Amino acid sequence: MVAEGIGNRELMARILVVEDEPTLLGSLRRGLMEEGYDVVPVSTIEQAMHALSKQTVDLILLDVMLPDGSGVDWVRTLRANSNMVPVLMATARDAVEDRITGLDSGADDYLVKPFSFDELVARLRALLRRASASRESKLVVDDLSIDLLTRQVTRAGADLDLTPRQFDLLTYFAQSAGEVVTREMIAKDVWKEPTATWTNVIEVQINHLRRRLERPEWPTILHTIRGKGYCLGKQP
Ligand code: CA
Repeated sequence: MVAEGIGNRELMARILVVEDEPTLLGSLRRGLMEEGYDVVPVSTIEQAMHALSKQTVDLILLDVMLPDGSGVDWVRTLRANSNMVPVLMATARDAVEDRITGLDSGADDYLVKPFSFDELVARLRALLRRASASRESKLVVDDLSIDLLTRQVTRAGADLDLTPRQFDLLTYFAQSAGEVVTREMIAKDVWKEPTATWTNVIEVQINHLRRRLERPEWPTILHTIRGKGYCLGKQP
């Protein structure tokens, strides 16, 4: 059960953990509960489907190799049925092809086993934050405002005219405001292409976005973090 007195909505999230290795399932359950999450632990796809029919969950942590099927195929089925719950896939195989397969199926992010618990929690938080941000129609970062429904962007009250790609990029930055966003993350989440060949394209688009976003009379809002990536708003 969730500890009393935790006020942060993000920490109250319910996570369906699908993992057939009993020791790992047990330690994930304990660890995530200690972090304040409400955990639903299951070890097969069938149990996972049953759990989803009984309650809504905020995120699924999903093993790929399960006794009654592949996590990759199951995510594909979920997405085909318009279930858009965020999925963090855990795969024992770290081949690039498998990672791409996982993301192609509609998983939102992946972890390669064995992963550290800290890394898991960091990824969970990022996914949950993104999911909750996308439920709200307006994102505000300092004097910048993004209306997700109308796709209207203003800064200091002035309308900014963005291309669809620039809008998606800016929205992505805004959902992780105050944190470093790497080119790799942008390639994977905005371009849906986890390859380095997109780096130049991404840089060009970010330069275009910057020209729309920044004016000499305004403080810089989109920062380049040397050797790491970018950060919208106050730097970490
Ligand atoms: Ca497994």
